[in-house]
Amino acid sequence: MFSKVLVANRGEIAVRVQQTLKTLGIATVAVYSDPDSSAPHVLMADEAWALAGQTAEETYLDIEKIIAIARRCGAEAIHPGYGFLSENPRFARACHNAGITFIGPTPENMEALGDKISSKALAQKAGAPVVPNSPPCSQIDAAVEEFTSTWGFPLLVKATAGGGGRGMRLVNRLEELAAALESAGREANAAFGDGRVFLERYIPHPRHVEFQILADGFGNTVHLLERDCSIQRRYQKIIEETPSPALTPELRQQMGEAAVAVAKEAGYVNAGTVEFLLDTGLDTRSEKDGGRFYFLEMNTRLQVEHPVTEEVLGIDLVEWQVRIASGEALTFGQDEVRGRGHAVECRIYAEDPYHGFVPSVGALVKWLPPSGPGLRLDSGVGQGNEISTYYDPMLAKLTAWGPDRASSLRRMELALSQFPVLGLVTNIPFLRQVIQSPGFQKGDYDTGFLTAGPEVDQPELPEEAINLAQALAAWVADGVSDRKTAAPERPAPPYQVHQSPWLTAGKLRLP
Ligand code: ADP
Ligand code: ADP
Ligand code: MG
Repeated sequence: MFSKVLVANRGEIAVRVQQTLKTLGIATVAVYSDPDSSAPHVLMADEAWALAGQTAEETYLDIEKIIAIARRCGAEAIHPGYGFLSENPRFARACHNAGITFIGPTPENMEALGDKISSKALAQKAGAPVVPNSPPCSQIDAAVEEFTSTWGFPLLVKATAGGGGRGMRLVNRLEELAAALESAGREANAAFGDGRVFLERYIPHPRHVEFQILADGFGNTVHLLERDCSIQRRYQKIIEETPSPALTPELRQQMGEAAVAVAKEAGYVNAGTVEFLLDTGLDTRSEKDGGRFYFLEMNTRLQVEHPVTEEVLGIDLVEWQVRIASGEALTFGQDEVRGRGHAVECRIYAEDPYHGFVPSVGALVKWLPPSGPGLRLDSGVGQGNEISTYYDPMLAKLTAWGPDRASSLRRMELALSQFPVLGLVTNIPFLRQVIQSPGFQKGDYDTGFLTAGPEVDQPELPEEAINLAQALAAWVADGVSDRKTAAPERPAPPYQVHQSPWLTAGKLRLP
């Protein structure tokens, strides 16, 4: 087992990974950008090193800086979290070349699965059904014409390197196609440095159902059941739950077996997620297709929504990532994987859901999260923190567990109604409206739920007024003289802050 691990990330996931490392008795090293100098992930670390910069490119995406720090501080391994460098084979290789273990799959796994077209070919080889797609295309050529005459419209333009819903366009008519190819290509190039796009048949009214995979270095591969992530906005998940209300035991078994087959075909090691689209058959043209599922992609990292799996299985996925990376074998087989009860997760964002979801920036003056049995908060922010536009606007994830779906939803609804926040606008009341909506309560929803749903208006709930009053009361209680929201003081040693070499040298020096 490792004795010191660097976490190359920020926010809630950097906090969450460190919690497990500490439980395992491993010393933790944080890295941070200038705006994050007093963020929770920095304050809780045993050591914290400045990345010296503001933007993601000059900090959490800078491979050389991160490797240099890991060498200097003697970290034996790096955990990349999700986002940033987590799916970057160049980073995984740079770790290996520096003699540092990358806690995640191999660079070859990432290369085979990071490209949507080649990963679908791999899935097909493993016997998993895939949605028909075209080869990469940049304009309307013969291959595009063949695809559209076979499959028609609507279709999706997708980025081969895509992720986080970027570089994706729904195209309803031929006249819109050329412009969609162009703009998706441009967006993909800006986001991933790879502008290749392709066409994919559009499945109307699908559910997004994904399977968690764990694979060790000894050929043992298991799935850890599914997560239903169909509550999405702009192809981005907002609410996730397990078990999926849409799966029968037979379908769960078939999809789980397909997920394991894909991971095995890729020679996959460590934690990963196989995503599927499940056809609900709601579209009249495809009624016979209800219950069909299609491989979508495999994410070669820890997923944002991994807590719901942890809550129903009672296992720590980050612990397994670390154990597998340090050479340990899985200690359980597929037939020992049994879920207990139901869990649901909400992503809490600093944004105004009632005014076009515009991001909200500023100081988090009061942040009074609920707590209680069956509740879990994965948070990367603390009171007094300044929320900027440099990074993802996700503040925290709230997860509720219950012995059955109805009780976990009730627990979630109650928790969302008792969550005072002052200083920023959040999507908390909106999440509560979605949880309360009849369609969600029945489990009868697909990925179009939020787009098709009735216009939601700002609720005039008494709970919102009570939340506001509570936050204000807490703020006033802080004392009139002390109202300025000072950032929390750094605790005294053993916590240490290191001067990074390039801060004094003026430029980056590799040790
Ligand atoms: P999940 O399935 O884990 O919810 P998302 O697609 O929502 O995955 O993305 C999780 C995080 O990773 C987000 O912060 C997103 O911006 C980031 N991300 C996803 N794919 C990529 C990628 N290819 N490159 C960079 N960041 C990505
Ligand atoms: P990303 O890499 O950005 O996560 P995915 O391919 O996983 O992209 O798709 C993200 C979401 O987009 C899915 O969860 C689903 O809602 C929608 N989507 C993707 N492909 C299709 C498709 N062929 N038909 C309908 N919806 C799709
Ligand atoms: Mg995806």
